[in-house]
Amino acid sequence: MRLRNKPWARDYMAEHPDILLAEPEKMMNGWHTLFGNGNPIHIEVGSGMGQFIIGMAVANPDVNYIGIEHFDNVIVSALEKAVEAEKPSNLRLFRANGMDLAKIFHKGEIDRVYLNFSDPWPKTRNAKRRLTHETFLKLYEEVLAEGGEIHFKTDNRLLFEYSLVSMSQYGMKLGFVSLDLHAEMPEDNIMTEYEEKFSAKGHPIYRLESHFTN
Ligand code: SAM
Repeated sequence: MRLRNKPWARDYMAEHPDILLAEPEKMMNGWHTLFGNGNPIHIEVGSGMGQFIIGMAVANPDVNYIGIEHFDNVIVSALEKAVEAEKPSNLRLFRANGMDLAKIFHKGEIDRVYLNFSDPWPKTRNAKRRLTHETFLKLYEEVLAEGGEIHFKTDNRLLFEYSLVSMSQYGMKLGFVSLDLHAEMPEDNIMTEYEEKFSAKGHPIYRLESHFTN
């Protein structure tokens, strides 16, 4: 917990257990039951203040969305936005380290993983923390259903290059790749907080879609 600057946050979070789950590991193999439908489940690891995952949930009611964020003081902002958006029934949030995905989701329970503007961890000694490091790819492979995809956006060229190499070396297949997403700006692109900030500064936005091959 890191709530020193937000003394109200703990109570606020406890007031919304229907959308902010306190014990996500208890839902293992029961996520479809929780949502009350068999619709695909898409997760965002490192969902930050939630603009993307909430925007996606509102725009796509036939998909279930889960925002996963490491820090309480960040996820509480996502919770505020979700409450403002009247708590879409196809959205849940929880605090967790992405390293724990396989303790929370059953094999094949997830249909897509979104990674948006993940921390670049530029020093080689921190490479294992990058969300596209082999260790994380292994976890995504474990929880993704057959044909499940990873969709990744970033403004960080070095992280993008690293991720292309990491995924290729892992044996993943690349689908869509863009070196300037905003030049094409697909109609359905929902911007994240970081995407708005960095594209306003003129940074190109890189994007890829990939999937595992077996
Ligand atoms: N996706 C948001 C966006 O694009 O605006 C936030 C981007 S921010 C640079 C990266 C976020 O990922 C941070 O909020 C950080 O706490 C979270 N994060 C980093 N590593 C994580 C991990 N292993 N598990 C869960 N969240 C993580």
